[in-house]
Amino acid sequence: TPQALQELMTSRIAEYPDFPEPGVLFRDITPLLADPVAFHAIISHWCSILPERIDYIVGLEARGFVMGTPLAYELGAGFIPARKAGKLPGTPRQISYSLEYGSATVEIAENAIPAGSRVLVVDDLLATGGTAAAAIELVRQFDVELLGASFLVELQGLDGRSKLPEVPVTTVWSIP
Ligand code: AMP
Repeated sequence: TPQALQELMTSRIAEYPDFPEPGVLFRDITPLLADPVAFHAIISHWCSILPERIDYIVGLEARGFVMGTPLAYELGAGFIPARKAGKLPGTPRQISYSLEYGSATVEIAENAIPAGSRVLVVDDLLATGGTAAAAIELVRQFDVELLGASFLVELQGLDGRSKLPEVPVTTVWSIP
């Protein structure tokens, strides 16, 4: 039920004020991962709200790997990691995006996603949307059918969705 789901999310996602820096309320998903019943329930529910016929899930380093891999496995889809700079061999495609201080780069292996594939981008949490927006722009370079982006948690107050125009966004737990 929605109430049971809500209860799982509030009891298994911990909050840490001022981490990793002052003013940020950090949401820690590790208690959820450590609870086998909760983890299974969340992955099953999450699968039920995703688009049909996903060929590949692109998971964002690092917690997007942890959440995206069981989703891909459960759905019979492939998993493709979108990594931070310098981790992938070969000549990956890359895109840089700005952070509050400085910038970051995300990479996907060259030829990792066949043209025309049906792709979903996954991460644990949608905050300002900068990370997901960059990953989506990179995924689009592969000439795929982008089905949307999906997150375990959405912090509505930061309005990350506005950075993902024309991308269907699904979330398990949307915090007002
Ligand atoms: P953003 O680009 O602002 O949407 O930030 C999203 C990325 O930063 C995700 O990969 C999250 O794991 C992480 N993140 C941002 N804010 C938080 C938060 N309050 N708690 C936990 N993780 C966060």
